[in-house]
Amino acid sequence: MSVPSKSNTSNYRPDLLELAAGYAQDSVVVTTAQLELPGPQFLYVNSAFTRMTGYSARELLGKTPRILQGEATCRETLARLRAELAAGRDFIARTTNYRRDGSPFEIEWIISHIRDERGRTTHYVAIQRDITGRQLAETELRARDQELRDTSVRLLQTLRELERAERQSVYRERLLALGEMAAGVAHDLNNALTPLVSVLDLLGRSELAPRESQWVESARAATEHAVEVVKNLQHFYRADDLPGTRQPIDMAELAQSVRELTRPKWSADRSAGSAIEFDVRAAAVPPVDGNLTELRQALVNLVFNAVDAMPSGGRLEINVSCRSGEVVVEVVDTGEGMADDVACRCFEPYFTTKSSGSGLGLSICHGVVKRHGGRIETRPNPDGGTVFRICLPPATRYSAAATATAAGGDTAKLRMLYIDDAEVSRDSMKALLCALGHEVDVADGGDSGLERWREREYDVLLTDLTMAPTTGVDVTRAVKSATPEMPVILLSGLPRDEVAAMFGGHMQPDAILEKPFSLDEIEALLEKLKHT
Ligand code: ADP
Repeated sequence: MSVPSKSNTSNYRPDLLELAAGYAQDSVVVTTAQLELPGPQFLYVNSAFTRMTGYSARELLGKTPRILQGEATCRETLARLRAELAAGRDFIARTTNYRRDGSPFEIEWIISHIRDERGRTTHYVAIQRDITGRQLAETELRARDQELRDTSVRLLQTLRELERAERQSVYRERLLALGEMAAGVAHDLNNALTPLVSVLDLLGRSELAPRESQWVESARAATEHAVEVVKNLQHFYRADDLPGTRQPIDMAELAQSVRELTRPKWSADRSAGSAIEFDVRAAAVPPVDGNLTELRQALVNLVFNAVDAMPSGGRLEINVSCRSGEVVVEVVDTGEGMADDVACRCFEPYFTTKSSGSGLGLSICHGVVKRHGGRIETRPNPDGGTVFRICLPPATRYSAAATATAAGGDTAKLRMLYIDDAEVSRDSMKALLCALGHEVDVADGGDSGLERWREREYDVLLTDLTMAPTTGVDVTRAVKSATPEMPVILLSGLPRDEVAAMFGGHMQPDAILEKPFSLDEIEALLEKLKHT
């Protein structure tokens, strides 16, 4: 530290330095140079220092700066300070000090030695700055930085989830494509197997030498195996009825059992203000031909959703009735309801508005109902809340042919027209029907078949489904719209309910025969038609 000589400046005054220090924005402190206890003493403090600490100059002078230290003052910094000053070096550091009222503040300070002409330290001068604001800003900055890091981690997670969802949707698309291919293959194989089964059935009923009869048996066993393989293929792409899982189901009974099954969800741990009243109102309805596990799961999902939508309690109903020949099951709640955009998307897989929802409940319901040949829809409940309605075809519509009973030997001779554009099928079917004692005309397409049918009187019309340009559906509709009482049997390599769905409930055939079918099956069916 050097003082300007008087000769340099004409208006220099000895008190000018003190005056300047007094006006400085940063705190200026001069202390004695005693490092040992009781420590250095304040000899001079400027007004910035008194403002910063809350002490008056009078209170400070003669005291040690240690009165500013406290719990959060860094002991390590103080030890370094002593060591540096004792070694004759200046010191720069940051620490926490305390004001007169006990509140902490952060300072950055520089301590320099004031030396005499022999270089001995006589005093220390410290310049200090309150950096509490800067420190806060830095803490804030660090918090923001952390927040940004957390956000980017979350973004990465979301990205990964999106990628996973995309992979799943590609997987679903592939399965769908595979399913379509399997459906096509199954259809063609069923068509190809039909004449084989028919001819082998006929041979089985003929008088054959033991060796030939053995050959026929082997061929029948191999064909039955092939039929089984195709059935399994259909189970894969339809992903529904595992063999033997369809049964007549009373939806009213099922609704009651679902009410009991879900009791823990809607009645447990609910305070009086959030109670749920749950009623099942069921009329007598015809059974549906269905998969019990799947239909139960669908109703349970709807009930769970209804309960989730009524956190403050409400009324839940399952109504079962029969309307326009369909079994109708409605799950009605008085919950929070669905906004239009939610209602539009609620059946989409993975769509959910719940923090811990899977978004799969309703898409599973949709799949189940569709596989049962029905439909599911939603609408707002006029009393507030939501209504989910499931419409299912009654059992008879599924299985007109399957319910045909007992083959009888006394099938009277019928006059039949069989329409099929595939020559092999046409010939084998004609042979089969003739062997059963009927009179059979054939036509090689929908148009020629209809022409033939208009020219002659028939007792039964049989038609293949897949023909161009006039399909079996077109033929059925044309015949049924002209003569509704005319029995029509539709033959197809597709599953029965898929074919039934093509008619949308209008002008349906009297029976749908799945290819390949056995001789017994067609006999039973003709017998049944004869009696209706
Ligand atoms: P999750 O229940 O796992 O969310 P869902 O497929 O069952 O999946 O339902 C999809 C969405 O449809 C739900 O998140 C909810 O927003 C809406 N939802 C379903 N049922 C109801 C209901 N009864 N009332 C109101 N909203 C519903």
